[in-house]
Amino acid sequence: MSACLTGIKCGYDGSAYGNYPSALKLLAYDTVRIVKFCPEEFSFGTPREMCDIHGGTGIDVINGKAKVLTETGVDWTHGMITAAEKMLEIATNEKIEMAIMMDTSAACGSQVIYDGNRFADNKKYQIGMGVCAALLKKNGFLIISQRDFASLEILYSKIDQQHKVDPQKIDHHETEWYKSYFKILLSGK
Ligand code: SF4
Repeated sequence: MSACLTGIKCGYDGSAYGNYPSALKLLAYDTVRIVKFCPEEFSFGTPREMCDIHGGTGIDVINGKAKVLTETGVDWTHGMITAAEKMLEIATNEKIEMAIMMDTSAACGSQVIYDGNRFADNKKYQIGMGVCAALLKKNGFLIISQRDFASLEILYSKIDQQHKVDPQKIDHHETEWYKSYFKILLSGK
């Protein structure tokens, strides 16, 4: 799991970015082993600047076609790729079955990330993964985010046979926000 989702204060501002019950629920199962890692802390320490991907998504960064820049314009591309490689090494060595990762992060995002600097006046989102999630996916790992509530329901039910799946829950890509935001962008309006 992205370490911040487990309550570890490894966010850029020294916080854990709030409380995510959907992820924390997994910590309560004694049949689940959670491996926690913060790739940005590994490469850049905490606290640190905020960073975002410019010119593409996480897979483009891995392929040398996009960059990771901090909010003040420092190039963190190399450090982010090093962090992704470390995360992949840990995931492989620990034989993880699934990664639960914090969406919108330039490192851990799995569904939606910012398109350029999130602090810009014209901040934009794009569909795509952060650098570390993209490298995990490229290597065959399954990833869901803390807000893929329908997928998490299925996961809870696999772990705990008593858990009744809530059919009302939806994944992030099924939300009205997602559908309307990206439909508008894709149609160029
Ligand atoms: S989203 Fe990922 S990189 Fe950012 S604080 Fe959480 S674990 Fe660290």
